Amino acid sequence: MKATQLFTHSTKEIPSDETSKNAQLLLRAGFISKEMAGVYAYLPLGLRVIEKIKAIVREEMNAIDGQEIIMTSLQQKELWEKTDRWDDEKVDIWFKSALKNGTEVGFGWSHEEQITNMMRNFVHSYKDLPQSMYQFQTKLRNELRAKSGIMRGREFVMKDMYTYAHSDEEHQKIYDKVTQAYLKIFDRLGVGDKTYLTYASGGAFTEFSHEFQTITDAGEDIVYLDESKKLAINEEVYNDEIISRLSLNKKTLKKVKTAEVGNIFSFGTAKSKQLDLKFTNKEGKEEYVVLGSYGIGITRLMGVIVELFSDEKGMVWPESIAPYKVYLAQLGQDKVVLDAAKRLYDILIKNNVEVFWDDRDARPGEKFSDADLYGFPYRIVISQNTTKANEYEVKRRDQQEANNLTIDELLNLLAR
Ligand code: ATP
Ligand code: MG
Repeated sequence: MKATQLFTHSTKEIPSDETSKNAQLLLRAGFISKEMAGVYAYLPLGLRVIEKIKAIVREEMNAIDGQEIIMTSLQQKELWEKTDRWDDEKVDIWFKSALKNGTEVGFGWSHEEQITNMMRNFVHSYKDLPQSMYQFQTKLRNELRAKSGIMRGREFVMKDMYTYAHSDEEHQKIYDKVTQAYLKIFDRLGVGDKTYLTYASGGAFTEFSHEFQTITDAGEDIVYLDESKKLAINEEVYNDEIISRLSLNKKTLKKVKTAEVGNIFSFGTAKSKQLDLKFTNKEGKEEYVVLGSYGIGITRLMGVIVELFSDEKGMVWPESIAPYKVYLAQLGQDKVVLDAAKRLYDILIKNNVEVFWDDRDARPGEKFSDADLYGFPYRIVISQNTTKANEYEVKRRDQQEANNLTIDELLNLLAR
């Protein structure tokens, strides 16, 4: 990608009501655009981050036999009535509308009901189980407050998976596998060391659910964590009983602010009873299916990662999800320099290195400040000096000093 081909550019003008660091930086860099509070569009550079996060999540979900689907955004009211979640008193984040004929519909904020109902067409015998299906989808939620930038949207991308098992034991095995897959995902996204498996309230169906909470002051949750055991307890269920059940020591627990980046739930058979999802077991008897539900906030994660990996100059993306690996900048429009930049750009592409070329006729200061703001892992500068020396000036975004490298050294560093 070349800067002169990209319709977005950095800007100093951002909405004055935007108080969160993640949205400020992403807006300044032109990664996102604000429609209204809690509603953001994702522009080319921002979309690349989302797609990379999704690719990692997809790989790990497929590795545990998840099957990808896309459910609908328009939902029928009747299913939510069966589980008593249509009423605004019961679920306070509904967006609702109606068809021309007056039939009420809801906009999907979650999809357990829909998928479970759909599975009635596919699950009949124990041979049809277990099953796991997941989707990436834009969820719509009429959140009361949207002050955390893309970390709390009224429209946001979630990965949600739903699993169907024939027994509690089988469900527990799946649940444990998903837990491990989630920990792997957060590691790969660069937030593993700051993300804690957290005991949280279970809702109506089980005593506890598990959340994945990432330490950040920009978060809205409070958890008590044990750093050595890598476990945490959400303040909503924090008491002496759970501390001793988890064999933790109250004195060593640390109270911190976190953001919930994932949440996994066991539903038991409660929902399959409400929605009548049954199967015939080996003995020919009917039983209810055991359900689990597993979310990851894709766009929230992107916001959390900006909060964690940024400095006063801009963002500092982990390599696994940076929009591009390299920010290439030539200084000046001298033919020799331009030719050298063009040559390197082609070589990098040929070597599968994702490169963004700031080919604009702009001042060096402008290019350096955009390189810092955008936060790609490497900046390469081509100037008259470097072309004369037949070298490239390379600097990592997270380091101060630059190095001059030959083309071989450069490719060694970047092309893996
Ligand atoms: P929260 O407690 O933050 O309101 P939740 O418990 O309602 O979230 P779930 O329904 O479990 O969230 O959704 C799964 C994941 O989706 C969450 O763990 C979170 O990462 C993400 N998520 C939830 N609500 C939002 C939102 N409004 N904006 C962005 N991401 C969200
Ligand atoms: Mg929650």
